[in-house]
Amino acid sequence: MLYFNSCPKCSKGTIEYSEDSQGKSITCLMCGFSKNSFSNSPRSSSRRNKSKIS
Ligand SMILES: [Zn+2]
Repeated sequence: MLYFNSCPKCSKGTIEYSEDSQGKSITCLMCGFSKNSFSNSPRSSSRRNKSKIS
């Protein structure tokens, strides 16, 4: 899948999005920026956002 003008680095590049059994990865075809989510699972996010109003 391709996303035009959505590179977080150069902001004009075409992002190629790929997904497989390992995870998801994006690569910018213009500047070469790449990022994947193979090893960081955002499941250990413990929310401590309790705001007590008393
Ligand atoms: Zn880019």
